[in-house]
Amino acid sequence: MAKATVDADNCVGCAACESTCDASAISIEDGKAVVDQEKCIECGACVSACPVEAISQ
Ligand code: SF4
Ligand code: SF4
Repeated sequence: MAKATVDADNCVGCAACESTCDASAISIEDGKAVVDQEKCIECGACVSACPVEAISQ
């Protein structure tokens, strides 16, 4: 596993990933998800939660 990364071109800003992240590593900024690489514990929950496959690890 690795830190989560967001493809901003695909992200629709739904915030499903933000509410799924137990580490509070994701915030929505200007309508796009942003992952705090320092906080991400590489759990993969956000990757599964994203409806448009905009997050990968
Ligand atoms: S991989 Fe886990 S800890 Fe990292 S941003 Fe996604 S949900 Fe949060
Ligand atoms: S779940 Fe996917 S589309 Fe929704 S805010 Fe997160 S990265 Fe963007």
